Amino acid sequence: MPSVIVHYQEIALKGRNRPWFVERLLANIRAAMAGLDGVKVRALMGRIELQHASHDDWPQVRERLSRLPGIANFLRAAPAACDFDAITETVLGELAGVEANSFRVTARRADKRFPLTSPQIERDLGGRIKAAKGWRVDLEQPALTVRVEVLGDRAFCCLRKEPGAGGLPSGVSGRVACLLSGGIDSPVAAWRMIKRGCRVRFIHFHSYPILSRTSQDKVAEIAALLTRYQLESRLYVVAFGGIQRRVVLAVPPPLRVVVYRRLMLRIAERIARVSGSAALVTGEAVGQVASQTLDNLAVIDAAAALPVLRPLVGMDKDEIIHEARRLRTYEVSIIPDEDCCTLFTPKHPATRATARQVDEAETALPVEALVEDAAANAERHDLRFPPAAARRPA
Ligand code: ATP
Ligand code: MG
Repeated sequence: MPSVIVHYQEIALKGRNRPWFVERLLANIRAAMAGLDGVKVRALMGRIELQHASHDDWPQVRERLSRLPGIANFLRAAPAACDFDAITETVLGELAGVEANSFRVTARRADKRFPLTSPQIERDLGGRIKAAKGWRVDLEQPALTVRVEVLGDRAFCCLRKEPGAGGLPSGVSGRVACLLSGGIDSPVAAWRMIKRGCRVRFIHFHSYPILSRTSQDKVAEIAALLTRYQLESRLYVVAFGGIQRRVVLAVPPPLRVVVYRRLMLRIAERIARVSGSAALVTGEAVGQVASQTLDNLAVIDAAAALPVLRPLVGMDKDEIIHEARRLRTYEVSIIPDEDCCTLFTPKHPATRATARQVDEAETALPVEALVEDAAANAERHDLRFPPAAARRPA
């Protein structure tokens, strides 16, 4: 059976929480492999071993592992008996048909019962490969690194290290609620929190039927893309058009964007409390648009008691776009769509709204009733990766 050795983020997982983090990662890897044949996952001497039934599944295994937070790197591995000759034979078998003009061997002996030390394995196996293939040893910049890991009763021979996503296993850092707009930024903000081990709930505000359904369709697609990283998501869809109509009647145009955003935060907070989320997340970055000045962010924050996290706060737009492309959310985010925040707002909103102005403007609104009603009527959608259709029938 083909094996994969998974290395987790050593430094991040040190300390008392480690066994729990590893359990979480094991569970996440198992869940991510749903639908693939004969997958077995187990902890093995500071690594994780994944076995799967068919070599044909490797591209899927690789793709799914590469997205999971908490993994430093992983290697496709040929198992061998814990014996130097068996290891050599397996390595030479793996090297059949491989071309490289230089190489090195890197060995790790996690099980000290194996009679050779790591440097001895490297030297002796290096000699055998050199003799068999005629390649030059290059310790600094080898064209190929042959890796051998001796783990318990077996050794694993690996040729290629695949990069992992880094970060922390999904679920170890608690739950947050991200305001997901359908724009470019908020999906990246959500992913950053997923990568830090949070389970991220998504909340979207739409102005259907005043505007089209496009934003809802985009957000459903973006939520599905993000679910590939955290495996389970919940999306709340909130009708916001009626509230905007009330705001238009009561609030002067320059303050409307800030008031919309404050109402969104209050509604999100209500939903977050019910769903056990400990913080709110937005895709705002300082100075990106007129509504995102430090003054406005402070006034927006004051509407919520939960912390408002802004993982993109110090990023440039091109850095954000780069990440959005990698996540594949970018293509969806740029689909033209009318943003509900621009509904009934002037081209130049106030860049320095003050708390006093905004508080005063809001006294004309039944804030509590609007928030309560919007949160109570939010639609809930649960998503999973792999989607149910891709799972093996029980
Ligand atoms: P984005 O690309 O994420 O939409 P943006 O630069 O367009 O960000 P704004 O439209 O001002 O900025 O929104 C700032 C943040 O407010 C968003 O990142 C998102 O977290 C939240 N937000 C805005 N509109 C909505 C919405 N309709 N539903 C949910 N959240 C929203
Ligand atoms: Mg936007």
